Amino acid sequence: PCTDFDVAYFHSYAHVGIHEEMIKDRARTETYKEAIMQHQSLIQGKVVVDVGCGTGILSIFCAQAGAKRVYAVDASDIAVQAKEVVKANGLSDKVIVLHGRVEDVEIDEEVDVIISEWMGYMLLYESMLGSVITARDRWLKPGGLILPSHATLYMAPVTHPERYSHSIDFWRNVYGIDMSAMMQLAKQCAFEEPSVESISGENVLTWPEVVKHIDCQTVKIQELDSVTARYKFKSMMRAPMHGFGFWFDVEFSKPPSSPAKTTSATSVASGSSSMSPSREGYQKKRSNPSDALVLSTSPEAPPTHWQQTIVYFYDPIDVEQDQVIEGSVTLSQSKENRRFMNIHLEYSSAGRSFVKESVMR
Ligand code: SAH
Repeated sequence: PCTDFDVAYFHSYAHVGIHEEMIKDRARTETYKEAIMQHQSLIQGKVVVDVGCGTGILSIFCAQAGAKRVYAVDASDIAVQAKEVVKANGLSDKVIVLHGRVEDVEIDEEVDVIISEWMGYMLLYESMLGSVITARDRWLKPGGLILPSHATLYMAPVTHPERYSHSIDFWRNVYGIDMSAMMQLAKQCAFEEPSVESISGENVLTWPEVVKHIDCQTVKIQELDSVTARYKFKSMMRAPMHGFGFWFDVEFSKPPSSPAKTTSATSVASGSSSMSPSREGYQKKRSNPSDALVLSTSPEAPPTHWQQTIVYFYDPIDVEQDQVIEGSVTLSQSKENRRFMNIHLEYSSAGRSFVKESVMR
């Protein structure tokens, strides 16, 4: 059912700014374009659904790649503009804009390809992947192509002394006045909610771990209601730990059943999915070190509008080199609004245990 929350959600996509930000994110948009070109042989002459077409940009890329027909679906009023853009580019016979939810619109044929840019902050915020799954189960032919094909959410312990001193230690001495009485409130306000910001490789204390790996061909909606992962990190340095950083990558590979293409020289890991301290160590953690195109939002990849998401502790914990930090994280859809995400973090280090609850709204 379409709730009031969904109405507000789709309304937010009727503004130009959000589309401008996404389209100007070159790492994002160019990787999608490249993925479409790389899979051109599976798109040419085929039927495509673009789940959440926005301004229609990905649908038009697919039409340019030779798709026979593209159903461009969006529930937001931005679909009105998408239709105009398609028309102005002489593609109205190929790109059919459907103004409605993928859950509700009718498409009277099976499709060969699903393309969607559904990723939210921390990958799962917004919960749009469920709509891609719905489209897959409604229309995709068995063995059809889904772009992106895989997604992986990572986490790692981070140190960020500047951020902490900027927001918190600042109150110690304000124009010569001791305002440390403000510090408790400042911590509450600064770190209650997850923070979307850019960190660099130097902020990361050790290799990331996988929170969730998603195969878009097989993932089920119920799996996404709540995701729990256990982790165990060993800090590679001595530092104050300020919280955990989260980021993701998505991969664009062809379905396993489709005929193998000769290794193409254009396969590039765009936006290196590497992480300091060394690319090699990080790559070993990947279950599928294929040559597939990857869009990465890691601190070491070219910046994207997703940046990274940091869940800060209220107080840093000092960790020594080789100190173990372990615990679990649970990401779940909020009962209050399924577009919101609850983050439940349990962590322990040097015999002390903590819990941090937060909501991403
Ligand atoms: N594909 C565009 C826009 C991506 S943003 C681009 O790459 O630039 C995601 C879009 O999906 C938004 O415009 C939003 O309105 C739409 N969307 C999200 N859930 C949807 C659903 N269930 N049905 C239809 N559209 C949806």
